[in-house]
Amino acid sequence: MLELPADEALIAGEWRRGAGPPVDTVDPATGRTLTTVHSVSAEETHEAAERAAEAAAEPVWRELRPHLRARLLHRIAELIEHDADRLADLQTADTGKSRTETGALVSSAAGTFRYTAAALETAEDAVTPSRGPYVTLSLHEPIGVVGAITPWNSPVASDAQKLAPALAAGNAVLLKPAEWTPLVALALGRLVHRALEEAALPAGLLSVLPGPGSVVGEAIVGHPRVGKVAFTGGTATGRRIGRVAAEKVMPVSLELGGKSPTIVFEDADLERALAGVMFGIFSSSGQSCVAGSRLFVARSRYEEFTDELVARTRDLRVGPGTDPDTQVAPLVHHRHRDAVAAHVERARAEGARVRCGGRAPEGERWRDGAYYLPTVLDGLPHSAAVCQEEIFGPVLVALPFDDEDDLVAQANDSVYGLACGIWTADHRTAWRVARRIEAGTVWINTYKQFSVSTPFGGMKDSGLGREKGREAIRGYQRQKSLYWSTDDHPLPWAG
Ligand code: NAP
Repeated sequence: MLELPADEALIAGEWRRGAGPPVDTVDPATGRTLTTVHSVSAEETHEAAERAAEAAAEPVWRELRPHLRARLLHRIAELIEHDADRLADLQTADTGKSRTETGALVSSAAGTFRYTAAALETAEDAVTPSRGPYVTLSLHEPIGVVGAITPWNSPVASDAQKLAPALAAGNAVLLKPAEWTPLVALALGRLVHRALEEAALPAGLLSVLPGPGSVVGEAIVGHPRVGKVAFTGGTATGRRIGRVAAEKVMPVSLELGGKSPTIVFEDADLERALAGVMFGIFSSSGQSCVAGSRLFVARSRYEEFTDELVARTRDLRVGPGTDPDTQVAPLVHHRHRDAVAAHVERARAEGARVRCGGRAPEGERWRDGAYYLPTVLDGLPHSAAVCQEEIFGPVLVALPFDDEDDLVAQANDSVYGLACGIWTADHRTAWRVARRIEAGTVWINTYKQFSVSTPFGGMKDSGLGREKGREAIRGYQRQKSLYWSTDDHPLPWAG
Protein backbone atom coordinates (compact mmCIF):
# COMPACT_ATOMS: atom_id res chain seq x y z
CA MET A 1 0.00 0.00 0.00
CA LEU A 2 1.47 3.33 -1.10
CA GLU A 3 2.03 5.71 1.79
CA LEU A 4 1.19 9.19 0.55
CA PRO A 5 2.47 12.33 2.27
CA ALA A 6 -0.06 14.53 4.05
CA ASP A 7 -1.28 17.63 2.24
CA GLU A 8 1.17 19.83 4.11
CA ALA A 9 4.12 21.93 3.05
CA LEU A 10 7.15 22.67 5.21
CA ILE A 11 6.92 26.43 5.61
CA ALA A 12 9.35 28.29 7.86
CA GLY A 13 9.99 25.21 9.97
CA GLU A 14 6.34 24.22 10.32
CA TRP A 15 4.23 21.62 8.52
CA ARG A 16 0.92 23.07 7.39
CA ARG A 17 -1.43 23.13 4.43
CA GLY A 18 -0.41 25.73 1.86
CA ALA A 19 -2.69 28.73 1.47
CA GLY A 20 -2.56 28.59 -2.35
CA PRO A 21 -4.82 26.59 -4.67
CA PRO A 22 -4.97 22.77 -4.54
CA VAL A 23 -3.16 20.81 -7.25
CA ASP A 24 -3.96 17.18 -8.05
CA THR A 25 -0.99 14.88 -8.52
CA VAL A 26 -1.78 12.15 -10.99
CA ASP A 27 -0.37 8.65 -11.44
CA PRO A 28 0.54 8.74 -15.13
CA ALA A 29 0.27 4.95 -15.43
CA THR A 30 -3.44 5.02 -14.65
CA GLY A 31 -4.54 8.62 -14.99
CA ARG A 32 -5.91 8.43 -11.45
CA THR A 33 -5.43 11.23 -8.96
CA LEU A 34 -3.05 10.09 -6.23
CA THR A 35 -3.61 12.96 -3.88
CA THR A 36 -4.04 16.70 -3.76
CA VAL A 37 -1.40 19.09 -2.52
CA HIS A 38 -2.18 22.70 -1.74
CA SER A 39 0.32 25.15 -3.19
CA VAL A 40 1.96 27.64 -0.90
CA SER A 41 1.27 31.30 -1.54
CA ALA A 42 3.73 34.09 -2.39
CA GLU A 43 3.25 35.41 1.18
CA GLU A 44 4.17 32.03 2.64
CA THR A 45 7.24 31.92 0.43
CA HIS A 46 8.20 35.32 1.83
CA GLU A 47 7.67 34.03 5.37
CA ALA A 48 9.85 30.98 4.62
CA ALA A 49 12.63 33.17 3.22
CA GLU A 50 12.61 35.47 6.26
CA ARG A 51 12.67 32.53 8.66
CA ALA A 52 15.43 30.87 6.61
CA ALA A 53 17.58 33.99 6.90
CA GLU A 54 17.14 33.97 10.68
CA ALA A 55 17.88 30.25 10.89
CA ALA A 56 21.01 30.59 8.75
CA ALA A 57 22.30 33.33 11.06
CA GLU A 58 21.69 31.42 14.30
CA PRO A 59 25.05 30.68 15.95
CA VAL A 60 24.11 27.05 16.57
CA TRP A 61 24.10 26.57 12.78
CA ARG A 62 26.49 29.23 11.60
CA GLU A 63 29.23 28.10 13.96
CA LEU A 64 28.57 24.38 13.68
CA ARG A 65 31.89 22.70 12.92
CA PRO A 66 32.20 20.97 9.56
CA HIS A 67 32.47 17.48 11.09
CA LEU A 68 29.17 18.06 12.89
CA ARG A 69 27.48 19.36 9.76
CA ALA A 70 28.84 16.25 8.04
CA ARG A 71 27.23 14.17 10.77
CA LEU A 72 23.87 15.80 9.93
CA LEU A 73 24.32 14.87 6.26
CA HIS A 74 25.17 11.25 7.18
CA ARG A 75 22.03 11.11 9.32
CA ILE A 76 19.92 12.34 6.40
CA ALA A 77 21.52 9.67 4.19
CA GLU A 78 20.70 7.04 6.82
CA LEU A 79 17.07 8.14 6.96
CA ILE A 80 16.83 8.04 3.15
CA GLU A 81 18.34 4.56 3.08
CA HIS A 82 15.93 3.42 5.77
CA ASP A 83 12.94 4.74 3.79
CA ALA A 84 14.35 3.83 0.37
CA ASP A 85 11.52 1.54 -0.73
CA ARG A 86 8.83 4.00 0.31
CA LEU A 87 10.55 6.90 -1.44
CA ALA A 88 11.06 4.88 -4.63
CA ASP A 89 7.45 3.65 -4.65
CA LEU A 90 6.26 7.21 -4.16
CA GLN A 91 8.39 8.52 -6.99
CA THR A 92 7.24 5.76 -9.33
CA ALA A 93 3.62 6.62 -8.57
CA ASP A 94 4.19 10.34 -8.97
CA THR A 95 6.44 10.39 -12.04
CA GLY A 96 5.54 7.10 -13.73
CA LYS A 97 9.22 6.07 -13.82
CA SER A 98 10.15 2.43 -13.56
CA ARG A 99 10.69 1.16 -10.03
CA THR A 100 14.17 -0.01 -11.00
CA GLU A 101 15.08 3.52 -11.92
CA THR A 102 13.48 5.23 -8.93
CA GLY A 103 15.26 2.74 -6.65
CA ALA A 104 18.54 3.83 -8.23
CA LEU A 105 17.64 7.52 -7.88
CA VAL A 106 16.89 7.14 -4.18
CA SER A 107 20.15 5.34 -3.62
CA SER A 108 21.96 8.06 -5.56
CA ALA A 109 20.31 10.69 -3.32
CA ALA A 110 21.60 8.94 -0.19
CA GLY A 111 25.02 8.60 -1.86
CA THR A 112 25.06 12.32 -2.60
CA PHE A 113 24.55 13.16 1.08
CA ARG A 114 27.31 10.74 2.10
CA TYR A 115 29.79 11.92 -0.53
CA THR A 116 29.08 15.56 0.32
CA ALA A 117 29.63 14.84 4.02
CA ALA A 118 33.07 13.42 3.18
CA ALA A 119 33.88 16.31 0.85
CA LEU A 120 32.89 18.75 3.58
CA GLU A 121 35.20 17.18 6.13
CA THR A 122 38.12 17.37 3.73
CA ALA A 123 37.40 20.85 2.28
CA GLU A 124 40.25 23.19 3.15
CA ASP A 125 40.67 26.91 3.19
CA ALA A 126 43.97 28.31 2.01
CA VAL A 127 46.85 30.15 3.56
CA THR A 128 48.07 32.07 0.51
CA PRO A 129 51.66 33.22 -0.09
CA SER A 130 52.05 36.49 1.69
CA ARG A 131 53.90 39.50 0.25
CA GLY A 132 54.48 41.27 3.54
CA PRO A 133 54.54 40.89 7.33
CA TYR A 134 51.03 39.49 7.49
CA VAL A 135 49.30 36.15 7.06
CA THR A 136 46.92 35.97 4.12
CA LEU A 137 43.98 33.59 4.18
CA SER A 138 41.33 32.71 1.63
CA LEU A 139 38.17 31.57 3.41
CA HIS A 140 34.77 30.27 2.38
CA GLU A 141 31.54 31.26 4.10
CA PRO A 142 27.87 30.39 3.58
CA ILE A 143 25.76 32.56 1.31
CA GLY A 144 22.79 32.54 3.70
CA VAL A 145 19.56 31.52 1.97
CA VAL A 146 19.61 29.40 -1.18
CA GLY A 147 16.67 28.67 -3.50
CA ALA A 148 16.65 25.17 -5.01
CA ILE A 149 14.21 24.72 -7.89
CA THR A 150 13.85 21.28 -9.45
CA PRO A 151 11.98 19.68 -12.37
CA TRP A 152 9.71 16.66 -12.45
CA ASN A 153 11.91 14.09 -14.16
CA SER A 154 14.24 12.87 -11.39
CA PRO A 155 13.09 14.73 -8.29
CA VAL A 156 14.76 12.90 -5.41
CA ALA A 157 18.18 12.91 -7.06
CA SER A 158 18.02 16.51 -8.26
CA ASP A 159 16.72 17.64 -4.85
CA ALA A 160 19.64 15.92 -3.11
CA GLN A 161 22.16 17.33 -5.57
CA LYS A 162 21.24 20.82 -4.38
CA LEU A 163 20.24 20.21 -0.79
CA ALA A 164 23.35 18.30 0.29
CA PRO A 165 26.00 20.84 -0.82
CA ALA A 166 23.84 23.83 0.17
CA LEU A 167 23.46 22.51 3.74
CA ALA A 168 27.08 21.36 3.83
CA ALA A 169 28.11 24.90 2.94
CA GLY A 170 26.16 26.22 5.94
CA ASN A 171 23.07 27.68 4.24
CA ALA A 172 19.33 27.50 4.72
CA VAL A 173 17.37 26.18 1.74
CA LEU A 174 14.02 26.90 0.11
CA LEU A 175 13.24 23.82 -2.01
CA LYS A 176 10.58 24.13 -4.73
CA PRO A 177 9.60 20.89 -6.46
CA ALA A 178 7.78 20.80 -9.79
CA GLU A 179 4.03 21.24 -9.61
CA TRP A 180 3.40 17.84 -11.24
CA THR A 181 5.63 15.88 -8.84
CA PRO A 182 5.82 17.37 -5.32
CA LEU A 183 5.44 14.13 -3.35
CA VAL A 184 8.98 12.87 -3.02
CA ALA A 185 10.34 16.32 -2.08
CA LEU A 186 7.72 16.51 0.68
CA ALA A 187 8.73 13.05 1.92
CA LEU A 188 12.41 14.01 1.78
CA GLY A 189 11.54 17.21 3.63
CA ARG A 190 10.11 15.13 6.49
CA LEU A 191 13.40 13.23 6.78
CA VAL A 192 15.57 16.35 6.75
CA HIS A 193 13.22 18.04 9.21
CA ARG A 194 13.58 15.05 11.54
CA ALA A 195 17.38 15.07 11.27
CA LEU A 196 17.42 18.80 12.08
CA GLU A 197 15.17 18.24 15.10
CA GLU A 198 17.31 15.38 16.41
CA ALA A 199 20.38 17.61 16.18
CA ALA A 200 18.54 20.52 17.86
CA LEU A 201 19.15 22.71 14.82
CA PRO A 202 16.74 25.45 13.64
CA ALA A 203 13.75 23.96 11.80
CA GLY A 204 13.63 26.98 9.47
CA LEU A 205 16.81 25.75 7.72
CA LEU A 206 14.64 23.91 5.22
CA SER A 207 11.33 24.84 3.65
CA VAL A 208 9.67 22.66 1.01
CA LEU A 209 7.36 24.86 -1.03
CA PRO A 210 5.10 23.17 -3.58
CA GLY A 211 3.28 25.36 -6.06
CA PRO A 212 3.49 26.81 -9.54
CA GLY A 213 6.76 28.19 -10.84
CA SER A 214 5.03 31.40 -11.85
CA VAL A 215 4.11 32.10 -8.20
CA VAL A 216 6.36 30.18 -5.81
CA GLY A 217 9.39 29.90 -8.12
CA GLU A 218 9.33 33.59 -8.97
CA ALA A 219 8.81 34.56 -5.32
CA ILE A 220 11.92 32.56 -4.36
CA VAL A 221 14.11 33.88 -7.17
CA GLY A 222 13.15 37.52 -6.62
CA HIS A 223 13.27 37.50 -2.83
CA PRO A 224 15.92 39.87 -1.45
CA ARG A 225 16.96 37.34 1.23
CA VAL A 226 17.74 34.66 -1.35
CA GLY A 227 21.42 34.94 -2.23
CA LYS A 228 21.71 32.13 -4.77
CA VAL A 229 19.39 30.03 -6.89
CA ALA A 230 20.29 26.53 -8.00
CA PHE A 231 17.95 25.63 -10.83
CA THR A 232 17.36 22.51 -12.91
CA GLY A 233 14.79 22.69 -15.67
CA GLY A 234 14.08 24.02 -19.13
CA THR A 235 16.27 26.58 -20.91
CA ALA A 236 13.49 29.18 -21.24
CA THR A 237 12.86 29.12 -17.47
CA GLY A 238 16.61 29.16 -16.80
CA ARG A 239 17.04 32.27 -18.94
CA ARG A 240 14.24 33.99 -17.07
CA ILE A 241 15.81 33.16 -13.72
CA GLY A 242 19.20 34.30 -15.06
CA ARG A 243 17.74 37.71 -15.92
CA VAL A 244 16.42 38.22 -12.37
CA ALA A 245 19.75 36.99 -10.97
CA ALA A 246 21.62 39.54 -13.09
CA GLU A 247 19.38 42.30 -11.74
CA LYS A 248 20.05 41.15 -8.15
CA VAL A 249 23.76 40.48 -8.88
CA MET A 250 23.17 37.01 -7.45
CA PRO A 251 25.00 33.81 -8.39
CA VAL A 252 22.90 31.21 -10.12
CA SER A 253 23.55 27.70 -11.35
CA LEU A 254 21.50 26.50 -14.29
CA GLU A 255 21.20 22.83 -15.28
CA LEU A 256 19.14 23.08 -18.46
CA GLY A 257 17.99 21.14 -21.49
CA GLY A 258 19.83 19.09 -24.07
CA LYS A 259 19.73 17.49 -27.51
CA SER A 260 22.67 15.19 -27.07
CA PRO A 261 24.40 13.47 -29.99
CA THR A 262 25.26 9.80 -29.79
CA ILE A 263 27.75 8.77 -32.43
CA VAL A 264 28.40 5.35 -33.97
CA PHE A 265 31.62 5.08 -35.97
CA GLU A 266 32.21 2.48 -38.66
CA ASP A 267 34.50 0.44 -36.39
CA ALA A 268 32.19 0.43 -33.35
CA ASP A 269 31.22 -2.76 -31.55
CA LEU A 270 27.69 -2.73 -32.93
CA GLU A 271 26.23 -4.99 -30.28
CA ARG A 272 27.36 -2.70 -27.47
CA ALA A 273 26.46 0.42 -29.44
CA LEU A 274 22.91 -0.83 -30.05
CA ALA A 275 22.36 -1.49 -26.36
CA GLY A 276 23.94 1.84 -25.39
CA VAL A 277 22.02 3.91 -27.93
CA MET A 278 18.69 2.36 -26.91
CA PHE A 279 19.37 2.80 -23.21
CA GLY A 280 20.61 6.34 -23.85
CA ILE A 281 17.36 7.50 -25.38
CA PHE A 282 14.60 5.16 -24.23
CA SER A 283 15.43 4.66 -20.53
CA SER A 284 13.38 7.13 -18.46
CA SER A 285 11.17 7.20 -21.58
CA GLY A 286 13.53 9.83 -22.94
CA GLN A 287 12.66 12.22 -20.11
CA SER A 288 16.25 12.79 -19.23
CA CYS A 289 18.26 15.95 -19.81
CA VAL A 290 21.13 13.83 -21.16
CA ALA A 291 18.97 11.60 -23.38
CA GLY A 292 20.97 10.71 -26.50
CA SER A 293 18.24 12.00 -28.78
CA ARG A 294 20.28 12.60 -31.96
CA LEU A 295 21.89 9.49 -33.42
CA PHE A 296 24.71 9.89 -35.94
CA VAL A 297 25.86 6.73 -37.72
CA ALA A 298 28.72 6.39 -40.21
CA ARG A 299 27.06 6.27 -43.63
CA SER A 300 28.63 2.89 -44.49
CA ARG A 301 26.81 1.22 -41.57
CA TYR A 302 23.74 3.44 -41.47
CA GLU A 303 21.10 1.10 -42.93
CA GLU A 304 22.44 -2.00 -41.18
CA PHE A 305 22.61 -0.25 -37.80
CA THR A 306 19.28 1.55 -37.95
CA ASP A 307 17.43 -1.55 -39.26
CA GLU A 308 18.62 -3.54 -36.27
CA LEU A 309 17.96 -0.66 -33.89
CA VAL A 310 14.39 -0.34 -35.14
CA ALA A 311 13.80 -4.10 -34.82
CA ARG A 312 15.04 -4.09 -31.24
CA THR A 313 13.18 -0.91 -30.34
CA ARG A 314 9.92 -2.56 -31.43
CA ASP A 315 10.67 -5.31 -28.88
CA LEU A 316 11.17 -2.99 -25.91
CA ARG A 317 8.72 -3.75 -23.14
CA VAL A 318 6.37 -0.84 -22.55
CA GLY A 319 4.40 -0.92 -19.31
CA PRO A 320 3.73 0.60 -15.90
CA GLY A 321 6.71 1.57 -13.80
CA THR A 322 5.60 -0.86 -11.08
CA ASP A 323 6.14 -3.89 -13.38
CA PRO A 324 9.74 -5.11 -12.91
CA ASP A 325 9.85 -6.14 -16.60
CA THR A 326 9.05 -2.66 -17.89
CA GLN A 327 11.73 -0.94 -19.95
CA VAL A 328 9.72 2.03 -21.22
CA ALA A 329 7.33 3.44 -18.62
CA PRO A 330 4.65 6.09 -19.17
CA LEU A 331 5.54 9.74 -19.52
CA VAL A 332 5.14 11.99 -16.51
CA HIS A 333 1.80 13.50 -17.48
CA HIS A 334 -0.81 13.24 -20.20
CA ARG A 335 -0.14 16.84 -21.20
CA HIS A 336 3.54 16.06 -21.66
CA ARG A 337 2.71 12.92 -23.69
CA ASP A 338 0.58 15.10 -25.99
CA ALA A 339 3.45 17.58 -26.39
CA VAL A 340 5.79 14.74 -27.38
CA ALA A 341 3.22 13.43 -29.88
CA ALA A 342 2.92 16.94 -31.38
CA HIS A 343 6.69 17.02 -32.05
CA VAL A 344 6.43 13.72 -33.90
CA GLU A 345 3.40 14.87 -35.91
CA ARG A 346 5.28 17.97 -36.96
CA ALA A 347 8.26 15.87 -38.08
CA ARG A 348 5.91 13.56 -39.99
CA ALA A 349 4.35 16.56 -41.71
CA GLU A 350 7.85 17.76 -42.66
CA GLY A 351 8.53 14.43 -44.35
CA ALA A 352 10.20 12.32 -41.63
CA ARG A 353 10.25 8.57 -42.07
CA VAL A 354 8.70 7.05 -38.93
CA ARG A 355 10.71 3.85 -38.63
CA CYS A 356 8.85 2.66 -35.51
CA GLY A 357 6.51 4.02 -32.84
CA GLY A 358 5.16 7.45 -33.65
CA ARG A 359 2.00 6.96 -31.63
CA ALA A 360 0.58 5.90 -28.28
CA PRO A 361 0.06 2.14 -27.86
CA GLU A 362 -3.47 1.07 -28.68
CA GLY A 363 -5.89 -1.02 -26.64
CA GLU A 364 -7.73 -1.10 -23.36
CA ARG A 365 -4.58 -1.66 -21.30
CA TRP A 366 -3.07 1.62 -22.40
CA ARG A 367 -6.15 3.78 -22.56
CA ASP A 368 -5.78 5.74 -19.31
CA GLY A 369 -2.02 5.95 -19.01
CA ALA A 370 0.32 8.60 -20.49
CA TYR A 371 2.11 6.06 -22.71
CA TYR A 372 3.99 6.71 -25.93
CA LEU A 373 5.78 4.09 -28.00
CA PRO A 374 9.55 4.35 -28.40
CA THR A 375 10.01 6.08 -31.72
CA VAL A 376 12.78 6.22 -34.32
CA LEU A 377 12.64 8.87 -37.04
CA ASP A 378 14.94 9.64 -39.94
CA GLY A 379 14.97 11.14 -43.41
CA LEU A 380 15.15 14.78 -42.35
CA PRO A 381 18.08 17.19 -42.62
CA HIS A 382 19.81 18.27 -39.44
CA SER A 383 18.19 21.71 -39.71
CA ALA A 384 14.72 20.18 -39.09
CA ALA A 385 12.98 21.12 -35.84
CA VAL A 386 13.02 17.52 -34.63
CA CYS A 387 16.84 17.53 -34.80
CA GLN A 388 17.16 20.90 -33.09
CA GLU A 389 14.48 21.04 -30.39
CA GLU A 390 14.46 19.13 -27.14
CA ILE A 391 11.50 16.71 -27.14
CA PHE A 392 12.10 15.13 -23.71
CA GLY A 393 10.36 11.91 -24.68
CA PRO A 394 11.15 8.50 -26.23
CA VAL A 395 11.93 9.92 -29.67
CA LEU A 396 15.22 9.31 -31.46
CA VAL A 397 16.15 11.00 -34.70
CA ALA A 398 18.81 9.27 -36.80
CA LEU A 399 21.18 10.83 -39.33
CA PRO A 400 24.13 9.52 -41.38
CA PHE A 401 27.52 11.22 -41.46
CA ASP A 402 30.28 11.09 -44.07
CA ASP A 403 33.49 11.79 -42.15
CA GLU A 404 34.71 13.24 -38.88
CA ASP A 405 34.46 16.87 -39.98
CA ASP A 406 30.91 16.37 -41.26
CA LEU A 407 30.01 14.65 -38.00
CA VAL A 408 31.49 17.35 -35.75
CA ALA A 409 29.83 20.11 -37.78
CA GLN A 410 26.41 18.45 -37.45
CA ALA A 411 26.80 17.43 -33.81
CA ASN A 412 27.88 20.93 -32.76
CA ASP A 413 25.14 22.58 -34.83
CA SER A 414 22.89 22.84 -31.77
CA VAL A 415 22.12 25.49 -29.20
CA TYR A 416 22.62 22.77 -26.59
CA GLY A 417 25.82 21.24 -25.22
CA LEU A 418 24.96 18.86 -22.43
CA ALA A 419 26.18 15.36 -23.27
CA CYS A 420 27.53 13.15 -26.02
CA GLY A 421 28.13 9.43 -26.60
CA ILE A 422 30.89 8.04 -28.82
CA TRP A 423 31.03 4.43 -30.00
CA THR A 424 34.32 3.45 -31.62
CA ALA A 425 37.09 0.86 -31.30
CA ASP A 426 39.80 3.44 -32.02
CA HIS A 427 41.09 5.30 -28.97
CA ARG A 428 42.50 8.07 -31.20
CA THR A 429 39.10 8.74 -32.78
CA ALA A 430 37.48 8.69 -29.35
CA TRP A 431 39.97 11.20 -27.94
CA ARG A 432 39.83 13.57 -30.92
CA VAL A 433 36.05 13.62 -31.19
CA ALA A 434 35.51 13.83 -27.42
CA ARG A 435 37.63 17.01 -27.43
CA ARG A 436 35.90 18.52 -30.47
CA ILE A 437 32.28 18.05 -29.39
CA GLU A 438 30.75 20.87 -27.36
CA ALA A 439 29.27 18.99 -24.41
CA GLY A 440 29.63 19.10 -20.64
CA THR A 441 29.84 15.29 -20.41
CA VAL A 442 31.16 12.83 -23.00
CA TRP A 443 30.73 9.06 -22.68
CA ILE A 444 33.02 6.78 -24.67
CA ASN A 445 31.68 3.30 -25.37
CA THR A 446 29.15 3.74 -22.60
CA TYR A 447 26.26 6.10 -21.90
CA LYS A 448 24.32 7.61 -18.99
CA GLN A 449 26.76 6.48 -16.30
CA PHE A 450 27.05 8.92 -13.39
CA SER A 451 29.30 9.40 -10.45
CA VAL A 452 28.68 11.96 -7.72
CA SER A 453 32.41 12.67 -7.61
CA THR A 454 32.46 13.86 -11.24
CA PRO A 455 31.26 17.39 -12.01
CA PHE A 456 28.11 17.62 -14.12
CA GLY A 457 26.69 20.51 -16.14
CA GLY A 458 26.18 21.95 -19.57
CA MET A 459 27.78 24.17 -22.17
CA LYS A 460 25.93 26.75 -24.31
CA ASP A 461 22.14 26.77 -23.70
CA SER A 462 22.47 23.63 -21.57
CA GLY A 463 23.52 25.66 -18.60
CA LEU A 464 25.90 27.43 -16.35
CA GLY A 465 27.89 26.04 -13.43
CA ARG A 466 28.50 22.49 -12.27
CA GLU A 467 26.91 20.21 -9.73
CA LYS A 468 28.52 17.20 -8.01
CA GLY A 469 32.21 16.75 -7.34
CA ARG A 470 34.23 18.16 -4.44
CA GLU A 471 33.74 21.69 -5.73
CA ALA A 472 29.92 21.51 -5.44
CA ILE A 473 30.01 22.85 -1.87
CA ARG A 474 32.01 25.89 -3.06
CA GLY A 475 29.14 26.82 -5.36
CA TYR A 476 27.09 27.57 -2.25
CA GLN A 477 29.71 29.69 -0.51
CA ARG A 478 31.21 33.15 -0.74
CA GLN A 479 34.93 33.75 -0.60
CA LYS A 480 36.55 36.07 1.86
CA SER A 481 40.20 37.15 2.01
CA LEU A 482 41.86 37.93 5.29
CA TYR A 483 45.11 39.90 5.85
CA TRP A 484 46.42 39.54 9.39
CA SER A 485 49.41 41.59 10.50
CA THR A 486 52.17 39.59 12.19
CA ASP A 487 54.44 42.32 13.53
CA ASP A 488 54.59 45.97 14.45
CA HIS A 489 56.21 47.23 11.26
CA PRO A 490 55.45 50.86 10.50
CA LEU A 491 52.29 51.25 8.43
CA PRO A 492 52.18 53.60 5.46
CA TRP A 493 51.44 57.14 6.63
CA ALA A 494 52.27 56.23 10.25
CA GLY A 495 54.10 58.93 12.16
P1 NAP B 1 10.62 23.82 -16.27
O1 NAP B 1 9.28 24.06 -16.82
O2 NAP B 1 11.69 24.80 -16.58
O3 NAP B 1 10.42 23.70 -14.68
C1 NAP B 1 11.48 23.42 -13.80
C2 NAP B 1 11.15 24.00 -12.44
O4 NAP B 1 11.10 25.42 -12.53
C3 NAP B 1 9.79 23.57 -11.91
O5 NAP B 1 9.85 23.43 -10.52
C4 NAP B 1 8.92 24.75 -12.30
O6 NAP B 1 7.74 24.87 -11.55
C5 NAP B 1 9.87 25.89 -12.03
N1 NAP B 1 9.53 27.14 -12.70
C6 NAP B 1 8.76 27.33 -13.81
N2 NAP B 1 8.70 28.65 -14.12
C7 NAP B 1 9.44 29.30 -13.20
C8 NAP B 1 9.76 30.67 -12.99
N3 NAP B 1 9.30 31.65 -13.78
N4 NAP B 1 10.56 31.00 -11.94
C9 NAP B 1 11.06 30.03 -11.14
N5 NAP B 1 10.76 28.71 -11.27
C10 NAP B 1 9.98 28.35 -12.30
O7 NAP B 1 11.19 22.42 -16.69
P2 NAP B 1 10.42 21.04 -16.67
O8 NAP B 1 9.54 20.98 -17.85
O9 NAP B 1 9.83 20.81 -15.32
O10 NAP B 1 11.64 20.02 -16.79
C11 NAP B 1 12.13 19.59 -18.00
C12 NAP B 1 13.37 20.36 -18.37
O11 NAP B 1 14.38 20.21 -17.37
C13 NAP B 1 13.99 19.83 -19.65
O12 NAP B 1 14.36 20.89 -20.48
C14 NAP B 1 15.23 19.10 -19.17
O13 NAP B 1 16.24 18.99 -20.11
C15 NAP B 1 15.62 19.92 -18.00
N6 NAP B 1 16.49 19.14 -17.10
C16 NAP B 1 17.81 19.45 -17.04
C17 NAP B 1 18.66 18.71 -16.23
C18 NAP B 1 20.13 19.03 -16.14
O14 NAP B 1 20.75 18.63 -15.16
N7 NAP B 1 20.74 19.72 -17.09
C19 NAP B 1 18.15 17.65 -15.47
C20 NAP B 1 16.81 17.36 -15.57
C21 NAP B 1 15.97 18.12 -16.38
P3 NAP B 1 6.36 24.25 -12.13
O15 NAP B 1 6.54 22.80 -12.20
O16 NAP B 1 5.35 24.63 -11.16
O17 NAP B 1 6.17 24.88 -13.46
